[in-house]
Amino acid sequence: MSTNIGQKVLDKLKDEISQNEYNRYIKHLKYDEKSSRSDIAIFTTNNILSAKWIKTKYQKKLAHLYEIESGLKAEIIIDVKNSKSKQRVKAVSKKEQSNQSTLLNPSFTFNSFVQGSSNALAYNVSKAVAETPGKQYNPLFIYGGVGLGKTHLMQAIGNYRFNMGDKIIYNTFEQFLNRYTNHLRTGTMDRFRDYYRNCDILLIDDIQFISRKEQTQEEFFHTFNELHSLSKQIVITSDRAPKKIAGLADRLKSRFEWGMLVDINPPELETKIAIIKKKSELNGIRLDEEIVNYLATKLGSNIREIEGTIIKINAMSSLLRQKITLEFTKNAIEDYLSEKKKSITIDTIVDIVAQELNVKPSDIKSKKRAKKIVEARRISIYLARNLTPNSMPQIAIYFGMKDHSAISHAMKKIEEIIENDENLKVAIEELSNKIETLKLQN
Ligand code: ADP
Ligand code: MG
Repeated sequence: MSTNIGQKVLDKLKDEISQNEYNRYIKHLKYDEKSSRSDIAIFTTNNILSAKWIKTKYQKKLAHLYEIESGLKAEIIIDVKNSKSKQRVKAVSKKEQSNQSTLLNPSFTFNSFVQGSSNALAYNVSKAVAETPGKQYNPLFIYGGVGLGKTHLMQAIGNYRFNMGDKIIYNTFEQFLNRYTNHLRTGTMDRFRDYYRNCDILLIDDIQFISRKEQTQEEFFHTFNELHSLSKQIVITSDRAPKKIAGLADRLKSRFEWGMLVDINPPELETKIAIIKKKSELNGIRLDEEIVNYLATKLGSNIREIEGTIIKINAMSSLLRQKITLEFTKNAIEDYLSEKKKSITIDTIVDIVAQELNVKPSDIKSKKRAKKIVEARRISIYLARNLTPNSMPQIAIYFGMKDHSAISHAMKKIEEIIENDENLKVAIEELSNKIETLKLQN
């Protein structure tokens, strides 16, 4: 296991907590490369009190980040350096881990999913798959835009089968990829294969990122065949149809189309109304009919955003001690929609781009010319231009560039690259969505 993993986990954690917390607890935490193995990650700190505190406060995060980074589930141990008694604080016990192991969100069920004509087919087929997995719809391939319920439906199948005692593997494609590269590097591909082949249901979320990754496609192909020949159910989601995934090997494309291909469309008005009702009910919020209708016409089709907005309105109403009337909602929405645009700062953009591309925010703002950094800088500029109201000269100042022409040059360059690189295009779309969703939640 390389130092990088442990260090990357700590760097990621840094992005998720306050500076204060970081300095107080995490700064002194070190990854103990020598003693760690692929299934045990050991971190050391200087005293037992902080070890205990780190365990209580950050255990889940560390385990989660570790899994995201490495694709492996490891036992996280917080060790105390130089302690004679060799005190160890186990951050996550094996048992706790197995409870989390499916990583399914228990609230993503068929019951909590609102049906409408935009998603009825996907819903019904998913239900059929949950009831009789591995039979007529194998694989099930669900595709559609962001926030339309793909992950929800996929996990509803997972939850349903989990309750029937099936062994479920839920992975984003990114996790599959991480796991693959790690096992490849450590020469433990047999364990990789065992892991995926010992399940009843395999759920792979957001497979579009498989685009042009030939080696991983090959491995996924074998995993797929093995499970399929054993009549194990495979469910895949993607933001686009298989034929639209650039650089997808024909044999995979055809396999994805073997079973059932369904798309989810943006909800039409009626479905939006039903979703708003359901979400407000689930969150214990009362909304009059006219308010529901108003929101349905005013808000876009991303259901994650719709839910975020309802929660926000409710929070404002209790904060201001005002009833949620139509007038109140109108004001809230207007403020909020304009606020949404205003509140995205270049700082936020740089932080998120840095996190996603694994570079430091300070490098993006520097003049370094390493390829990875230049790319991250260009993407940040592009997003700053599109998602914030800043002018080109303002953006130039932020990035320490000569003048606005440097920005317009960077914009041209990135637009040109996007034009020819479907992967990058998707990645940038995902980034924008992430940035907007994040702002929405604040
Ligand atoms: P996707 O994976 O397509 O981007 P998700 O499945 O993560 O979208 O859905 C985003 C959010 O919207 C989730 O909180 C999910 O519960 C909710 N959601 C999406 N579609 C529906 C629906 N038809 N009924 C209820 N909730 C939904
Ligand atoms: Mg999803």
